[in-house]
Amino acid sequence: MLRTPIRCLACAALFALPLLRAQQEMVRRHRPMPRAGQYLVLKADLHMHTVFSDGQVWPATRVMEAWREDLDAIAITDHDDYRPNEKDVSMDLSRPYEIARPIAEGLGILIVPGVEITKGDLHFNALFIQDPNAFRGKDLLAALAEAKRQGAFSFWNHPGWKGRAQWWPAIATAYSDKLFQGIELLNGPTYYEEAREWIGRYGLTVMGNSDIHNASLPEEARTVNLVLAKERSLEALREALHAGRTIAWDGARRLIGRREWLEAVARAYLAAPREVRFTPGFWYNGLPLRNSSALAFELKAVDAPAWMEVLPAVVPPRSTTVVLIRLNRGAPKAPARVTLRLEVSNTTVTESGAPLVLPFEFELRP
Ligand SMILES: [Zn+2]
Ligand SMILES: [Zn+2]
Repeated sequence: MLRTPIRCLACAALFALPLLRAQQEMVRRHRPMPRAGQYLVLKADLHMHTVFSDGQVWPATRVMEAWREDLDAIAITDHDDYRPNEKDVSMDLSRPYEIARPIAEGLGILIVPGVEITKGDLHFNALFIQDPNAFRGKDLLAALAEAKRQGAFSFWNHPGWKGRAQWWPAIATAYSDKLFQGIELLNGPTYYEEAREWIGRYGLTVMGNSDIHNASLPEEARTVNLVLAKERSLEALREALHAGRTIAWDGARRLIGRREWLEAVARAYLAAPREVRFTPGFWYNGLPLRNSSALAFELKAVDAPAWMEVLPAVVPPRSTTVVLIRLNRGAPKAPARVTLRLEVSNTTVTESGAPLVLPFEFELRP
């Protein structure tokens, strides 16, 4: 008589334990990216690995971690010709997408079919492909041509990972045959500065991805691609990638992109008042900037009136931060229009290699 309830309790505990663990895993850390003008700003990681090539985890795990990190879009891009797990795991490269897709769709994450074309030291990701098994054994140019035939958006991965990148003959041929459209300037924490000028010169799209292989990510530091898309759909994502509306973000501070898109995002996310009042004798006068996003902005004045001193400031995510201003001798006693040019020091504009500079105009009321 006594044994039955005990056995049931044990059963219940057996089922409850994994559910409890699951509960702890399904917590999402929000990283808001409000609209930038007419565009949605999607957080996309379009380069990651699973056990189907040299990654350490099952495809479902990649989807769940993407959900926890508040990503909008992902692509699982296992290597075509690097298969260290082939003794134990299927060689069918359509499986990671097939396994991940229903989970991603259930969680509201866009999932793009992809593959990493892996030929010697030159690796390219091909996205929006139809058949990921069609690339194995081909040489680089044949594989990229196959990707093009399948309607892919392709980009050159980690261009300098084996030493300073150059516009090698294979790259030049691939480019003149219109076989790729982007370059991964940021791969995890690594920035390939030497490839920056090719973005503007060849009209390519800036890419930034985690290339995660491991079972866990460092906190706060997953590199993602911000994509300025017309809507939240695979078609809109593809359109934005081809149009080059992207910013590579290291997940913490660094932002790399074309001037137009860095400016669109910084303008949308840093709201300044039209009027700044100064309280006499108060230490904390300045320009309050409201940052509604998950991005941080490091600001430094590069141009201000001679009678004005502006302190460098960091505007953390989701904050209003006052950029402190001191008025020196010669400051006007009556309201005056002021233009302040602030450098966003944690950005790199691909056209120049220098940080973005934003003007802020306001009426100063001393
Ligand atoms: Zn790999
Ligand atoms: Zn990779």
